[in-house]
Order: sequence, then C-alpha cells, then structure tokens
Amino acid sequence: MPATMIESSIAKCANPDCDAKFRRLGVGKLYLQASHSPENRTGERVQKAAWVCERCALRFTVRYNDETRSFILVPSGTAAA
Ligand SMILES: [Zn+2]
Repeated sequence: MPATMIESSIAKCANPDCDAKFRRLGVGKLYLQASHSPENRTGERVQKAAWVCERCALRFTVRYNDETRSFILVPSGTAAA
C-alpha cells in the first residue's frame, strides 16, 4: 500500500479503512505538527494534528509532508524515506 494522504483531523483514526473514533488522550497515537503558512504573512502558525487508534498504531506510522503540508499514513516496517 502506498503512502496515503490523510485529513488533518483527530476526530477519527487517520486510517481511512478504520472507523475508530478519538475518545481520549493516551489511547492510540497522536501526531502534532506546527507549520507556517506561506500565504500568511502574519507568521501565524497552524497546528495540525492526526491521530491513529491503538490497533492502527501498530501497523501504521504518520509522517508529515512539508511539501504538501499534510500528513501521510505509511505502513510501519517499510523503509520509505
Ligand atoms: Zn484505526
């Protein structure tokens, strides 16, 4: 499975094939990324977040792509850079 671009949201598991809903901190894995918006001259930082449930955290890792400014879901155990 190739890396999947995912929505910046912690409402549910970042895995599109999983319906697990975010309930509380400490369950699963939460990824935070602060990024600068180039269109925004005020220097305001945008905090992005993604969450994967316990089960998916064992199978996937979330990475942040600076170019697209979005999170990607990568299967863990692959040597993808
Ligand atoms: Zn999940």
